[in-house]
Amino acid sequence: MYPRPFHYHRASSLKEAATLLAELGEEARPLAGGQSLIPLMKLRFANPSHLVDLNFIPGLSYVKQDAGTFRFGPLTRHAEVEHSEIAARIPIIHDCAAGIADVQVRNRGTMAGSLAEADPSGDWAPVLLTLETQVCCLGPKGERPVPLAQFIEDAYTTVLDPDELISEIAVKAPPTNSGGAYLGFKRCAPVYPSAAVAVQLTMEDGLCREARIYLAAVGLTPIRASEAEAALAGRPIDPQTTRAAAEAARATADPQPDMRGSADFKRQLIFTLTQRAVDVAARRACGEHVEVSHIYA
Ligand SMILES: Cc1cc2nc3c(=O)[nH]c(=O)nc-3n(C[C@H](O)[C@H](O)[C@H](O)COP(=O)(O)OP(=O)(O)OC[C@H]3O[C@@H](n4cnc5c(N)ncnc54)[C@H](O)[C@@H]3O)c2cc1C
Repeated sequence: MYPRPFHYHRASSLKEAATLLAELGEEARPLAGGQSLIPLMKLRFANPSHLVDLNFIPGLSYVKQDAGTFRFGPLTRHAEVEHSEIAARIPIIHDCAAGIADVQVRNRGTMAGSLAEADPSGDWAPVLLTLETQVCCLGPKGERPVPLAQFIEDAYTTVLDPDELISEIAVKAPPTNSGGAYLGFKRCAPVYPSAAVAVQLTMEDGLCREARIYLAAVGLTPIRASEAEAALAGRPIDPQTTRAAAEAARATADPQPDMRGSADFKRQLIFTLTQRAVDVAARRACGEHVEVSHIYA
């Protein structure tokens, strides 16, 4: 299907884009990679009257590290993160970028667009929630940093005002002796995961000092598995604690049955993925180089 007619505006700076959004009102939407917005427009689930294109604004696509912070631009594509040596210093971020859909989607889609979309199955939000992540929001009144945990309010709903843009995503470098892993189960590459688990651990003297675990695609928003975290904190990562964490994560998941599988199947996926992700995260936290990818049916 063709989208409904819309007016196209090409912004030459982020400030101009925010001003345009303010002038054009709630019927206007920014356009980044178009990998969520354009399909929704073609299905006529989204019908903006105006699109403000960010793609011709110079300097918005970057991955940088300054002092203790990793910075991702508002137009940084999944593929740029996947191939970035800087981003690879946080392995869970590389896991995420490399596992999104296929190469065509990764070449266009952006981290910021994914967070702004707040799709319940999106990969970036659960991964970045295991880290200390701030979303910088720019509007006509200026810039405000919002912790990611407060940024997503519900499925497809964020705290962004209609005239606000994500201007940067800032991730605090994890402490030393930390490691993470993001693992999902996918029916095939170019689809969202049926279920996925993001785990970030910090180890000290053979014990897990801190654990952060988020479940993806099994709720309306990423779900923090606090009981699973508690099952690991202060303990060694061994088969017993890992199993206890996986059982707690399974109990926390709140999946809906759909074309990706029954609710029971997704809960079982969460159990298995949590076990594997905890194992990889712990090994990475101890300095081992471990490569992983999603599991494909
Ligand atoms: C076939 C296919 C498979 C996919 N599989 C996966 C998958 O496995 N995992 C996954 O995570 N994603 C998947 N996606 C989605 C993909 O990751 C998108 O790139 C992402 O969700 C949106 O990013 P975008 O840059 O394309 O945003 P757009 O589609 O351009 O925009 C999405 C929304 O964000 C808003 N927006 C964009 N940029 C900004 C900004 N800077 N500030 C404020 N608002 C902004 C737009 O107005 C729009 O509402 C898939 C997409 C397709 C087409």
